[in-house]
Amino acid sequence: MRPAVAASRRLILIDADAWRTVIESRCAARESGGILLGCRHRDGIYVNQFIEVPDPQAQAASYLRLHRPASNALKAVLKTLPQHSPLGYVGEWHTHPAPVGPSGIDKRQARRISRRADDEIALVVAAHNPNSGEWKALGICAHRGRTHLATVEQTDLAPPDNVTETDQQRSQP
Ligand SMILES: [Zn+2]
Repeated sequence: MRPAVAASRRLILIDADAWRTVIESRCAARESGGILLGCRHRDGIYVNQFIEVPDPQAQAASYLRLHRPASNALKAVLKTLPQHSPLGYVGEWHTHPAPVGPSGIDKRQARRISRRADDEIALVVAAHNPNSGEWKALGICAHRGRTHLATVEQTDLAPPDNVTETDQQRSQP
């Protein structure tokens, strides 16, 4: 049986400055990635920051998010936030050298991570188009072992008006 996909799309809102920062001078020849800092909103996930977690073994089409450096990177960022900040771990991101969204392996990984997370997570792919030189954000959401199609939009509101502090999950699964 195929995993069920929700009829309604989820919405991943990305802080426009964070997006500019992540694609600026990014090397498209080698995949890179890390974890997402943000919070949940009614229709999905808000991404405030792309935290890079280096994978020394990363090649053109493989990025492996390593647990310990990811955990350390998250802790370091959480320490800089105000005490009652709604921001915490909300998912994963990595680059693709071609303009394609999450792969089958990516979706499997998102499902696996979502089984260990208390709440919905996002997987954002920064996909590079070598012809135009442009980067596009594509993503999916996953919750309790199921993936959900998502629309990715940039926002200048930080945090957006529609963000509700429904979740305080600050730890990484
Ligand atoms: Zn991928």
